[in-house]
Amino acid sequence: MIEIRDLHKHYDTAAGRVDVLKGINLVVPAGEITAVVGPSGAGKSTLSHCISLLEKPSSGQVLVDGVDLSSLRGKGLRAHRRSIGTIFQNSALLRRMTVAENIALPLRNLGVVHSQMVDRVAELLERVGLSEKANHYPGQLSGGQRQRVGIARALALRPRLLLSDESTSGLDPESTAQILGLLDALRSDLGLAIILITHEMDVVRDVADSVAQLDRGRITEHGALRELVSDRHSQAGGKLLPLKPSGLPANFDYVLTVAYRNSTVDPEWISRLSVDHGARVALLGGSVEAHRDGPLGRVSLGLSGLEPSHAIALLDGWGLAATLAVDPVIEAVERIEVSA
Ligand code: ADP
Repeated sequence: MIEIRDLHKHYDTAAGRVDVLKGINLVVPAGEITAVVGPSGAGKSTLSHCISLLEKPSSGQVLVDGVDLSSLRGKGLRAHRRSIGTIFQNSALLRRMTVAENIALPLRNLGVVHSQMVDRVAELLERVGLSEKANHYPGQLSGGQRQRVGIARALALRPRLLLSDESTSGLDPESTAQILGLLDALRSDLGLAIILITHEMDVVRDVADSVAQLDRGRITEHGALRELVSDRHSQAGGKLLPLKPSGLPANFDYVLTVAYRNSTVDPEWISRLSVDHGARVALLGGSVEAHRDGPLGRVSLGLSGLEPSHAIALLDGWGLAATLAVDPVIEAVERIEVSA
């Protein structure tokens, strides 16, 4: 488990003090993937560097399995730093070393005996599916394969936390899916806590259990992925599964926005509304995706023949969070009236 407590980071520059991280609190239990998302300049890289201790936090703590790494120095710090493995965007492999040599590097630095090193490297290569590339050089690999070598190297010293800093940025969809599949397996097989720093919402939807939104150095939202997606007030949820506002179609009474709150929603819920409850239903937009723990989605429906409150109560009982969508035209008219 990793626990970040009231982490602050500022820089003193010629132009004055710049406060970049302003009290970050975050807990990621073992076996869980938390995504940290946020716009450019929010402080994601700085947070990543403070977690991996490449940079020293100005104040606050970074605890891995209860040990406060931010308070350690010298030998103690070097020893405990091993509990954090980092995967970078460009995989940061040494070009003149083979894949096996790159993976062996952290073990060599630690003075692990040769025979043990060979066995461990073989095990790591197998874990990332690259056994047959052991003697290749990074330049002979695809971007996705290089990234998998980076993951093997990050795992060499058996970390408890894996920090992925934009590790899938710039990869093609197939390589991205492979990396995410690998992270997912590492989380379940090794019980790793994983922090995924990314600006790619597809990536977050695919593997994250929870999401923290970072904005101007503060965590402005944090919650389970499904919770954020089904909360209509959540900005992060809106970005994770965007839903364009739809106008009321002719011959329909109102529009509902419906989010999958549970993972066990009956896939036939739309036909149940019409067949069992006599509603007329028009699907206006949205997206529903197969998620690890069941469907995840938000859709917009035009409805008539059923009282809105009755429809909302029915859907609620089926694990769907429904809200009456405000008609964009009415809303615009109201805004004008209020300001007049
Ligand atoms: P992100 O990764 O979310 O784009 P960064 O962590 O790179 O954000 O940067 C957040 C803010 O911190 C930016 O405004 C950036 O200019 C500032 N910043 C980052 N590093 C330094 C530094 N070494 N000195 C001064 N300001 C910095």
